[in-house]
Amino acid sequence: MEKRFIYADNSATTAVSEEVLNAMLPYFTKAYGNPSSIYKLGRDAQKDIENAREKVARAIGAEPREIFFTSCGSESDNWAIKGIAENMAKKGKKHIITSVFEHHAVLHTCEYLEKHGYEVTYIPVSEDGLVNPEDVKNAIRDDTALVTIMYANNEIGTIQPIEEIAQICKEKKVIFHTDAVQAVGHVEIDVKKQGIDMLSLSGHKIHAQKGIGALYVRKGIALPNLIHGGGQERNKRAGTENVPAIVGLGVAIENAVKDIQRKNEIITPRRNRLIDGILKLPYTRLNGDRDKRLAGNLNISIEGIEGESLLLMLDMYGICASSGSACTSGSLDPSHVLLAIGLKHEIAHGSLRLSIEEDVTDDDVDYILDVIPKVVERLRSMSPVWEKMMKGESYE
Ligand code: PLP
Repeated sequence: MEKRFIYADNSATTAVSEEVLNAMLPYFTKAYGNPSSIYKLGRDAQKDIENAREKVARAIGAEPREIFFTSCGSESDNWAIKGIAENMAKKGKKHIITSVFEHHAVLHTCEYLEKHGYEVTYIPVSEDGLVNPEDVKNAIRDDTALVTIMYANNEIGTIQPIEEIAQICKEKKVIFHTDAVQAVGHVEIDVKKQGIDMLSLSGHKIHAQKGIGALYVRKGIALPNLIHGGGQERNKRAGTENVPAIVGLGVAIENAVKDIQRKNEIITPRRNRLIDGILKLPYTRLNGDRDKRLAGNLNISIEGIEGESLLLMLDMYGICASSGSACTSGSLDPSHVLLAIGLKHEIAHGSLRLSIEEDVTDDDVDYILDVIPKVVERLRSMSPVWEKMMKGESYE
């Protein structure tokens, strides 16, 4: 078997596309004007920023003035949550609702607010990795300032009933924010039709560079300034704009949302073949609802092995994969997402996330399905946990 290189970790990050790179390049050496400068070089840069803003807005059904560029998805999440918390506290509303399996950019922000006098309700999720809108409804109180529920989970890929939650928030007159970092470019989003008030997105998940993101804020929602200083981003986020990255994000998001359905039709059967192939191994289970999930995502627990060892061995075969979210790998704590859907610690430890795009071919799928059983068998043969399992002994 010839070793290949297969990138199956697009939920962690993506390569900058040729088109994005080429769109960005002139801004480093030729079109390098400061967008605040009065002369043409500056004015052109300003125009190009506004052009990119239009593209981002169009991609999610927003208006350009509702889009604010940030440095990443985490910044967008922090700004949305802390900003609304600060503003609504003035009206005596200091309660926030989120789910237990959000990305840490949301969870740690909520924990920070708890330390500063706010109350947070963490909605549980079902075994399938879905938030029940009724739970959100029941958690809303008179002093609820914000509901923030992710669009698609970064580890198990489950797509949440965003429209229903947004509708409930609208009825209850509570602001609704969604972290759509994993959803943009993979599911059709229209913030107006879906009733979303605020939305976070990130460039590096959709073939733009790392270090660029955006926050959509429905007009009429007051959000405090994030960075004080110059008048950039409608006075709300000072600092000379990262023009190349902004232009790149515009191109990337335009491409990402162009033909979602066509891409998903190609990816889904490959992803399903991977799921079915890996599930043939004994003592495995798919994490997250089989259908209500991102087309390219699979997350499977493989008992009797350590996720980290699996990843290292897959790497030796040229396969880039993940065992949880990239931000927490390196820590030996089991994933909070897998624990949230009810997995035991020792099962959560041995999980594999693959996130594929179109470039992972049917041949690549065959290769992965050839490699994984071999690697799993090898790891299990060395695993004391597996040995105990096979003898029917307790291994907890
Ligand atoms: N939210 C989700 C759901 C994510 O998956 C990520 C990144 O993995 C982030 C937020 C953070 O985005 P960024 O890396 O741009 O800060």
